[in-house]
Amino acid sequence: GEVLLEAAGVRKAYGATDALTSASLRVRAGEVVALMGPSGAGKSTLLHCLAGIVRPDGGAVRYRGADLAALTDRARSALRRTDFGFVFQFGRLVPELTCLENVALPLRLNGERGRVAARRAREMLAELDLADVAGKRPGEVSGGQGQRVAMARALVTGPRVVFADEPTGALDSLNGEQVMQLLTTAARVRDAAVVLVTHEPRVAAYSDREVVVRDGRTRELEVTG
Ligand code: ADP
Ligand code: ADP
Repeated sequence: GEVLLEAAGVRKAYGATDALTSASLRVRAGEVVALMGPSGAGKSTLLHCLAGIVRPDGGAVRYRGADLAALTDRARSALRRTDFGFVFQFGRLVPELTCLENVALPLRLNGERGRVAARRAREMLAELDLADVAGKRPGEVSGGQGQRVAMARALVTGPRVVFADEPTGALDSLNGEQVMQLLTTAARVRDAAVVLVTHEPRVAAYSDREVVVRDGRTRELEVTG
């Protein structure tokens, strides 16, 4: 597949802490890449640099050949909304909104009309077997369901890359496997790439490729996929 994302020699420090000293990585369309490694190694920082949320101090992150740092803030935010999807550890759904409204939200933020957004959100929920929870608020669904709703929200805009930071971290192993199965299948069907952070080998097993981050450096394992 096409190279979507490329990190080349990315560095990032927080004060005196070197979070990343040299991170390099390529992500192709349709590929599921797991960032592995011990706590504090720089995995989340790398994910945030790749997603255009954190600006590297050095090196470059390119999306489809364009250096993220060369874009205006506005262009970078627009790119995040249209081309990227995000899944976090605790879902981070808006508690006051129903699950349907949560999934429709990114479409609304992209300027989609209410009825169109609601219809597409409903279709997305149905595809992930979540039609039953459409009218419920996040507080009224199980942890696994909530995380699947978060996935529906990440996928509904048709992103090219889904970023997932410990997407199964708050789930038991059965729900975790279900979430990974769903995420990787939904992404492959769309030829979207997934970049996920995990410290669980069982979760990383769903990826095509594992990249180990240690002391702020990347190290690729052999290609298995
Ligand atoms: P990992 O995801 O592998 O656990 P992180 O990328 O979260 O690693 O963190 C890498 C290092 O950078 C750690 O030492 C962490 O404490 C530090 N760090 C991360 N984010 C911040 C921040 N916003 N402010 C200060 N230090 C940070
Ligand atoms: P600092 O580390 O100095 O607090 P930030 O990383 O918070 O800086 O980002 C400062 C500015 O860089 C903000 O205007 C922000 O919008 C922009 N920015 C954020 N992410 C990126 C990125 N990936 N590439 C370039 N600029 C970015």
